[in-house]
Amino acid sequence: MVYSKRIDGRKFDELREIEAKVGVVKSADGSAMFRIGDTVAIAAVRGPRDLYPKFMQNPKKGILRCNYNMVSFSVDERIRPGPSRRSREISLVTENALLPALNLEEFPNAVVDVFIEIIQADAGTRCAGICAASLALADAGIPMRDMVCAVSVGKVGGKALVDLNKKEEDYEEGSSDMPVAMLPRKNEISLLQLDGDMKPDDIDGCLKLAIKACKKISEIQRNALMGKYQMEKEN
Ligand code: UDP
Repeated sequence: MVYSKRIDGRKFDELREIEAKVGVVKSADGSAMFRIGDTVAIAAVRGPRDLYPKFMQNPKKGILRCNYNMVSFSVDERIRPGPSRRSREISLVTENALLPALNLEEFPNAVVDVFIEIIQADAGTRCAGICAASLALADAGIPMRDMVCAVSVGKVGGKALVDLNKKEEDYEEGSSDMPVAMLPRKNEISLLQLDGDMKPDDIDGCLKLAIKACKKISEIQRNALMGKYQMEKEN
């Protein structure tokens, strides 16, 4: 059966409600919260600081280290605490999605740690984590070539759509989901994954939807950053 109406009533190219805020964790060098629908990510940055053990240091540039974690109460069924194969994979793709935007040459022998905690999950958590992490890095004052924004697109019951929620990801009559991250000003894609099957034409169509949605997300990110600095100027 064709998926003619979305479960939550959204248009096929409509994102869930987004909220973004920077400076949410006082003890971090930079931090952010990014909420898209019922998916909530918090990112905190520590660094740049000297990397130990010393043999891991790169004298030419600093390294980025991301740690993605879904907290045990983020979904109805309790998640076992600690690293998993999934969290390691997402940490790695998050690092790769963020790296093209960063300029770490200024920080030889250093590490920038990004901790991403998913406190509520309704699909799209790696993308929400990337959006939060990018904001937190900017908030920490790390030199950046561009922001990184991310969204998941896909096909549900034969229909291409943006920002799948968990019910759509689990749609019985077929669903495929493609997380995409991009540097919006540079028009560069820094993450492209695919869970499920898609024809090349479908991938093209979904990619167009993702790029359009990412540009909207990047505006929200920009406003969140400007909001903080506007407030600091006024105080
Ligand atoms: N999920 C879950 N338990 C888990 C992992 C994931 O309930 O141990 C749910 C959660 O809502 C998550 C969704 O499944 O957002 C989709 O997970 P996926 O691995 O596809 O990554 P995501 O879409 O969150 O980036």
